[in-house]
Amino acid sequence: MPPFETDPDLLAKYREDAAHYPGGHTPAVVRPQTPQEVAELLAGTGTGSRVLTVGAQSSLTGGATPFGDLVLSTERLTGLEMKGDRIRAGAGVTLQAVQNALAAVGRWLPPVPTYLGATAGGAAATCAAGAATFKYGTVREWIDGITVVLVNGDVLDLERGQRRAASLVAIPSLQMPAVPKHSAGYFIAPEMDLVDLFIGSEGTLGVIAEVLFRTAARPAATCRALVPAADEAAGIRLVAELRAAAQETWRSRDPLGIDIAAIEHLDARSIQVIREDGVDRKLEITLPTGAGIVLLIEIELSAEAAAQDLWRQLASARDEDAADTPLRRFCALLDRHHALDDAEIALPGDRGRASAFAELREAVPAGVNRRVALAQQQIDPCISKTAADMIVPFERFGEMMGVCRQLFAERDLDLVVWGHISDGNVHPNLLPKSAADVTKGQDAILALGDAVIAMAGSPLAEHGVGRNPIKQELLRRLYGSDGVDAMREIKRALDPRGVLASGVIFAE
Ligand SMILES: Cc1cc2nc3c(=O)[nH]c(=O)nc-3n(C[C@H](O)[C@H](O)[C@H](O)COP(=O)(O)OP(=O)(O)OC[C@H]3O[C@@H](n4cnc5c(N)ncnc54)[C@H](O)[C@@H]3O)c2cc1C
Repeated sequence: MPPFETDPDLLAKYREDAAHYPGGHTPAVVRPQTPQEVAELLAGTGTGSRVLTVGAQSSLTGGATPFGDLVLSTERLTGLEMKGDRIRAGAGVTLQAVQNALAAVGRWLPPVPTYLGATAGGAAATCAAGAATFKYGTVREWIDGITVVLVNGDVLDLERGQRRAASLVAIPSLQMPAVPKHSAGYFIAPEMDLVDLFIGSEGTLGVIAEVLFRTAARPAATCRALVPAADEAAGIRLVAELRAAAQETWRSRDPLGIDIAAIEHLDARSIQVIREDGVDRKLEITLPTGAGIVLLIEIELSAEAAAQDLWRQLASARDEDAADTPLRRFCALLDRHHALDDAEIALPGDRGRASAFAELREAVPAGVNRRVALAQQQIDPCISKTAADMIVPFERFGEMMGVCRQLFAERDLDLVVWGHISDGNVHPNLLPKSAADVTKGQDAILALGDAVIAMAGSPLAEHGVGRNPIKQELLRRLYGSDGVDAMREIKRALDPRGVLASGVIFAE
């Protein structure tokens, strides 16, 4: 059995996750080194003990904040082994370490979240998704197997295709929304695989000790484009055409087609935040004064396209006699949308510029979090981060944004929006001026959730539910109280004493 560590300085490290919920505390942390040690620990937990598994604690939902739970940290579950084209990672291995190991053999794991310090176990437990979900799906589609330890100490070594979930527990019939990302309680589907039950279960059904990932060959080359557009509607029209062009490329396997992996976006208020913080000047990025939206586009090139003179491809965008190439087609498409002149493209190998674009994007959530923390210190300690994570079928994205802006405007709220526009996924965030704003913001988020559900979307796209009461309410609005009770039955069957991640997904 691994030791229970109680050094206060050590425990202080585990008191909160990236949602920064106040009041987190734990009596001890345990850091097992093998799945067997996890099993011994769980089998040994007496009545009344509660256990919260944590990875990197980058959760944005409070799901990795202990409230009196014993913390089971996966940081010493660090095995990493290539298995042909697949890779088996201990739960505590960071996604950055997975990518580094794969890069050494010319491969990668495409659907990772933006934060690469997250762990393999955490990504599986939250069914994380990222910018490249548009082309590659979520981590769920890239997990071939997991080793999971149940609360009674049973160790299940699962590979896809071996065992149905119904062989372990009764699976209710609930209809999940048909959207590319959905991390809202348990995955439920007819005849579902047992592996899928644990992916996205946020530590409530078992401890994931190892993950077996499928991997992909790295694309021959990647370009990153920063494309401002006049307003949100113009940006959405451009994204619609880029999505269609990419889907046609995948269907026809045209080596000269436009192949897009991801499109991220920042709205006009995000651009203001960037300007207020001087990030554009620091990174020497010129954003036109009238820009209403900025798109960050990841373009993959085939080996054939990458072998050609890429500067010439860019320079020939408006030359009708120039050779047909993916970059030329891409630039011509931007030109048709009057977005070429303000666009900047980082060609393959220009890592400095590509990471400057990524830094610009990351500066927005960082700037918002800083402002919320400041308001909490200077205005009212009751002020907290107030944010949503919603997705609709892309065709309804403009409609959702219209509803979102109206709900925040009629409550006189300062709204910043960014997200993964190629998936129809947004993160509306509030810049609160008072604690009353937070309450009004939560109200707006619930109303937006209703609208998103009515548009066949999901109000919980990629961050999970965690301990956040608004997200737990959104789960109830999505499936109804009966649907949530049906999910609770799964929890009761596998963890009757409520030992694991108590209060996560379902209120205590
Ligand atoms: C800057 C930033 C950017 C982010 N970008 C994205 C993004 O693009 N997409 C996205 O999906 N998320 C994103 N997130 C959220 C977060 O990174 C993901 O949810 C991530 O998958 C969590 O991994 P973790 O190792 O930090 O898990 P933790 O935060 O430690 O845990 C998350 C949940 O999973 C459970 N858990 C953790 N490990 C295990 C395990 N081994 N077995 C069972 N349960 C476990 C915990 O109990 C908890 O409920 C972002 C967060 C930050 C801070």
